[in-house]
Amino acid sequence: MDPAELEHFRRLLQEERERLLKAIAAHSEELKKMTADETGDKVYSDHMADMALLSRMKERKAGVLQKEWRELKEIEDALTRIKQGTYGICQRCGNPIERERLKIIPYTRFCSACGRTAGG
Ligand SMILES: [Zn+2]
Repeated sequence: MDPAELEHFRRLLQEERERLLKAIAAHSEELKKMTADETGDKVYSDHMADMALLSRMKERKAGVLQKEWRELKEIEDALTRIKQGTYGICQRCGNPIERERLKIIPYTRFCSACGRTAGG
């Protein structure tokens, strides 16, 4: 991959990393607040319906957070691969990953053929 293109993807990944870090911070804070509401002695906390709703919301939020953490990890790995000069190369078959695929998933480790079987 030529340096200008590599730089383009590096910038893309860094922007995405910043966005995710902010989202993770915000969602962690929301989750913390939800937990505080649940354990706090607010009047509505003994309403079963509210509790059920709160715990469903918490579960969903926790799921979102988990997904964001996983994505952040993938992005950081991709940034490491850029430094190591292995970015854009399929980790399974060693062939270059299609540009079109990298544009959609800049942190992917597999070409589209391997991605289908490796789940990445
Ligand atoms: Zn491959």
